[in-house]
Amino acid sequence: MLDNLTSRLSSVIKNLRGQARLTETNIQDALREVRMALLEADVALPVVKDFIARVREKAVGVEVLQSLTPGQALIGVVHDELTRLMGEHNAALNLATTPPAVILMAGLQGSGKTTSSGKLAKLLKEQMKKKVLLVSCDVYRPAAIEQLKTLAGQLDVDYFPSSETQKPVDIALAAHDYAKKHFHDVLIVDTAGRLGIDQAMMDEIRALHDAVKPIETLFVVDAMQGQDAVNTARAFNDTLPLTGIILTKLDGDSRGGAALSVRHITGKPIKFVGVGEKLTGLEAFHPERMASRVLGMGDVLSLIEEAQRGVDHAEAKKLADKVKSGKNFDLEDFKAQITQMRKMGGLSAMMDKLPGAAAAALPAGADEKAMNRVEGIINSMTPTERRKPELLKASRKRRIAAGAGVQVQEINRLLKQFEQAQKMMKMMSKGGLAKMMRGMKG
Ligand code: GDP
Repeated sequence: MLDNLTSRLSSVIKNLRGQARLTETNIQDALREVRMALLEADVALPVVKDFIARVREKAVGVEVLQSLTPGQALIGVVHDELTRLMGEHNAALNLATTPPAVILMAGLQGSGKTTSSGKLAKLLKEQMKKKVLLVSCDVYRPAAIEQLKTLAGQLDVDYFPSSETQKPVDIALAAHDYAKKHFHDVLIVDTAGRLGIDQAMMDEIRALHDAVKPIETLFVVDAMQGQDAVNTARAFNDTLPLTGIILTKLDGDSRGGAALSVRHITGKPIKFVGVGEKLTGLEAFHPERMASRVLGMGDVLSLIEEAQRGVDHAEAKKLADKVKSGKNFDLEDFKAQITQMRKMGGLSAMMDKLPGAAAAALPAGADEKAMNRVEGIINSMTPTERRKPELLKASRKRRIAAGAGVQVQEINRLLKQFEQAQKMMKMMSKGGLAKMMRGMKG
């Protein structure tokens, strides 16, 4: 699945070269490729337009980190936006209600409703230890009722019998009553679908919804339907207060566009994806993982992550060279160290790993706020003062304190910390810093 999208995006990476910063002009061709790739993957046009606009807005001005190519930097932005498009985080099933929690399954015939009902029953039973009752309201197709009964048997899950002579709402209410009496945690109501959108079907499922008041109304949609999946999703979403989506047949040769569109079109989260005909083929949907899969570039993505999170290698080396060359460690360097530490996830994350000068010099338990203040104070100094802290006498200190919005005592404290750091740097053996910085980045 999604092979085209992946290979097109790979060419984006290759073709964007040698730029230090992403600009409106240099990403234009690449964005055109991304746009084509999405359209070819059957992503709905309004979604594509919106997506490209967001990527452009986010990407322009992005600095290309030293260890990345511009193409990789752009892919980083695309990845983040893809994740956002699909909803950022996994949306879990909501069962928080007086039992039985009713799950209503909606969707067209053949979308995978009955199969998904079985899969969901299995998951609820095995992973969440729920007592589940299954019922079918598909009175138009006796085979569908039989199919659910067979699934229930295979799963050893309770099944509420129904027949084509009954009315769907009566079946659902009777099942609900039964579930209440027998202490079922969850009642899954499978419904009838048609081959296309049909008013009678919509009226019926609406009536079912009103009768059993489900806490979850899941729209089941076949990913292989491409653009049609989106139109169907829109129609169901207009009729029913959907709470989530199950996207089936993602294991097939779908072009995957539906996965990228349905959330945007309906505003409802994809909660699960169907990845096979077997009852084990249901997975919780994770937008971030899906985005990585779409991009098919695990290695590039981890590289980007590392570059974004990690040490700025060039900076670290500069600092190390300085120590090696025996030059003075000044306030500028001190600040650079603090900035480095912040990039690596803040002081608390670093304290254990990093016997760095700045870390040692900052008071124990110093947090993000303390680092901010130190940076603020150093920023209020002139470049000359940073290079020659010995210039800092009373009047300069007062000026800096006013500039940084702190008391003069804080400047004194900082200078003491800095002196300590300076001593440490002197003590450090040749090349020790570089080694230390390298050790830290993982
Ligand atoms: P319903 O009419 O909506 O109840 O659809 P069914 O549950 O009967 O499914 C229709 C067909 O799709 C069946 O052949 C299922 O085995 C198949 N199916 C359902 N979900 C998946 C899936 O995630 N992957 C694959 N490959 N097939 C699926």
